[in-house]
Amino acid sequence: MTLSLSGKIALVTGGSKGIGFAAALSLSEARAKVAICSRNLEELRQAAADIEARTGHRVLAVQADVSSQADVDRLVAEVEAGLGGIDILVNNAGGVGQIGPFEEIPTDIYTSLYEANVVSMVRLVKAVLPVMKAKKWGRIINISSENGLQPDPDMTPYNLTKAAIINFSKSLSRSVGSYNILVNTVSPAFIMTPLVKDMLEGIAARQHTSLQETTQQFLAQKRPGIELKRAGTIEEVGAAIAFLASDAASFITGTNLRVDGGSVTSI
Ligand code: NDP
Repeated sequence: MTLSLSGKIALVTGGSKGIGFAAALSLSEARAKVAICSRNLEELRQAAADIEARTGHRVLAVQADVSSQADVDRLVAEVEAGLGGIDILVNNAGGVGQIGPFEEIPTDIYTSLYEANVVSMVRLVKAVLPVMKAKKWGRIINISSENGLQPDPDMTPYNLTKAAIINFSKSLSRSVGSYNILVNTVSPAFIMTPLVKDMLEGIAARQHTSLQETTQQFLAQKRPGIELKRAGTIEEVGAAIAFLASDAASFITGTNLRVDGGSVTSI
């Protein structure tokens, strides 16, 4: 099956690296017109050039911080002016916040991470909905995490935001379904992105172990549910996102697609 998104316009937040980059690449390979945003302009431009070189399709790069209402408004306006009204929104940008025992995490961290991971998505959805409703076609794909269903005790702020995203997607899918706007969540686990590699390298440096040893140790101790006994690749998540954006997924809404190698142990 070949996915075709020809004529569709997609915005991927946090598209300069990791899962967002792979999502943008997969959508561009399916011939969507793609825009990406992130805060670091140099990395963003490099990512856009990289995707263009691989697919032959132009990628619009717009520097924006999704935590800022002004940036979100400008981002959507620039994409609409440069490419047209947005058909596909991939809400991927997000951070992990402070990691550690609950008692050591200040209350403010919860507020700022909720703003960055959840309220940012609400802002983007509000900005794109009028056009999607007018077109009677839309795809909104929100990136959560295994942590939204299977919380890590040292990541309480992150767990909370990722659980909220799953609930938000389902709520929104019920609110906009009659406009043929499909809303789904993708929940990855342990994907080898710059975010995860940095974390593993930090542990490796503290323990004086290699990256490979540290990865195997992390899998055994922290992610025993991953039946495939390896980290996932960004391409494996990008493919799932492109599938949900395509007409092949035209009867799927309100679902949470776990791309986690089995990490979440519940059915
Ligand atoms: P990376 O840190 O590798 O990439 C994050 C991307 O988001 C970068 O492009 C970054 O660019 C951008 N970004 C971060 N904050 C903002 C912001 N406020 N405004 C605009 N852009 C922003 O992360 P991953 O690819 O690993 O993660 C992507 C998503 O997947 C996140 O939502 C994460 O929670 C989720 N996830 C990841 C998993 C994994 O194993 N990697 C597992 C489960 C979920 P810049 O910093 O320049 O803004």
